[in-house]
Amino acid sequence: MARYTDAVCKLCRREGVKLFLKGERCLSEKCPLEKRPFPPGEHGRKMQRETSYGVQLREKQKAKRIYGVLENQFRKYYEKAAKQKGKTGENLLRMLETRFDNVIFRMGFAFSRREARQLITHRHFKINDRTVNIPSYSLKPGDSISLSERGKKCARIKECIESANKPALPAWLEVNYETMTGKVIALPQRGDIDFMIKEQLIVELYSK
Ligand code: SF4
Repeated sequence: MARYTDAVCKLCRREGVKLFLKGERCLSEKCPLEKRPFPPGEHGRKMQRETSYGVQLREKQKAKRIYGVLENQFRKYYEKAAKQKGKTGENLLRMLETRFDNVIFRMGFAFSRREARQLITHRHFKINDRTVNIPSYSLKPGDSISLSERGKKCARIKECIESANKPALPAWLEVNYETMTGKVIALPQRGDIDFMIKEQLIVELYSK
């Protein structure tokens, strides 16, 4: 499974917004974007002319980076979204939101999507009572999440559950922190997705 392995804070600096890729550090004064709010690299501080293509490209890169998806996989999501009924951009965001790693993060079992991905590949979670170690697994309404025996012993998951810095639980998910279980109760609607992603720009980029 290919994944991005370079410094993630560079990605936020490139997009000029906090993408919350590092969990608790993102909420602290240590966030590099606070100290260096300009793109990384030698020419980072120079003013750059923005073309409409550049704006569309940045929006696509932002969405990819928030959800930790690489280009090929992101394009496959787009192609699938375009074949579905309804608005392509919303279908695309819905597919990204229902990824297993995003759901674990949204439920407050991990401090970031990146951490959720690692916990999943280490077989810490079950879907409908079966251990699943595929971060891109797509969840449906009615699917239930629980911790595997290994997950129940994980101090990091407990720390996250007890933390006050958990993301707000969206309306399409429910969680019981006593039993460490959760459930997908509906598909996410556009209003449930808190990031300021202009999905129409991504659709325009890919439809060229
Ligand atoms: Fe982005 Fe978090 Fe790094 Fe800040 S600390 S630059 S929000 S990943």
